[in-house]
Amino acid sequence: MTPEGQALLLEGTAELGLKLTAEQVGGFARLLALLTESSAQMNLTALREERDILLKHFVDSLTVLLGEWLDRPAQGGPLRVLDLGTGAGFPALPLALVRPDLQMVPMDATRKKVEFVERAAQALGLAQVHPLVGRAETLGRDPQQRESYDRVVTRAVAALPVLAELALPFLRTGGLLIAQKGPILPEELEAGTRAAAEVGGAVRAVEPFSLPVADDARTLVVMEKTAPTPDRYPRREGVPGRKPLF
Ligand code: SAM
Repeated sequence: MTPEGQALLLEGTAELGLKLTAEQVGGFARLLALLTESSAQMNLTALREERDILLKHFVDSLTVLLGEWLDRPAQGGPLRVLDLGTGAGFPALPLALVRPDLQMVPMDATRKKVEFVERAAQALGLAQVHPLVGRAETLGRDPQQRESYDRVVTRAVAALPVLAELALPFLRTGGLLIAQKGPILPEELEAGTRAAAEVGGAVRAVEPFSLPVADDARTLVVMEKTAPTPDRYPRREGVPGRKPLF
């Protein structure tokens, strides 16, 4: 990481209220190097410039910490968190670097991306990260995965009604989905609210904010799992995306 890059990372994370340790900065520098090396060989991410990766992947991933949705509960063990559609590890890897207390499961349908996340987690010494390959429609029906997470995070994966159907089955009752989105239109929110109700959830918060430094518009949408998801959800692979519930 260049000195300018390090200054940018520190500025962006400080705006989120985070004070990175030297060790964490070193972790981000290693992740940047791994991502840049691997992107030269395979199509991992569209972003290539250091500044873009630092702001639009690393700092943007950490915006999931705005609010208190991922705070450690006063009682009970560590939060078990699924990153649905993690791609090259976002937000899972930046989150795991600054929050080693989270039990993190980055999941994606594309094996080569999950293999990268696995290699990166090992190289960064993130023993609490356990990547998983598969589609949400299928894993969400696996008894070991269904209703077994405290939190689902997801960034840039699908529209809200699709996310509700794919993500809420993974949550225990009382668990939270925190979706990292760009600007949200009222129609998407309305459809997402109705879909959440259908699969056992409710929208708890919609929080617009600006990405630090870059100032791009972002929204965190939080849904709570309020009741067990009916057995018929999620529907077969591909159906939630092709025919959203609302
Ligand atoms: N979250 C990452 C990020 O913010 O950089 C990746 C975003 S990428 C645009 C969307 C990812 O979601 C892809 O890697 C894709 O394979 C994954 N994905 C989409 N639908 C999925 C599903 N039903 N089950 C599992 N992964 C899915």
